[in-house]
Amino acid sequence: MPLDWSGFTWKCDVCKRERPDAQISVHTVDISAAYHAPPGSSQCNLKYCNDTPECRRTACSAATLRDCLDIMNGNVPASA
Ligand SMILES: [Zn+2]
Repeated sequence: MPLDWSGFTWKCDVCKRERPDAQISVHTVDISAAYHAPPGSSQCNLKYCNDTPECRRTACSAATLRDCLDIMNGNVPASA
């Protein structure tokens, strides 16, 4: 039987709300540089509400491991 993801919920890494699968998208950040590894060898996946502009903007603004950790820890600058 194929996996049915429609009933799953995911936690948005930005607002920490539990959302249905259809409302969650993923922004992938290449964090290899933080480990001095070749590009593409290490990635960070930030989940965000694709129907909430603020979550989308914050998640998609992440470009480094530091950004990912800040967002996951809730240390998002108010101006982000
Ligand atoms: Zn969110």
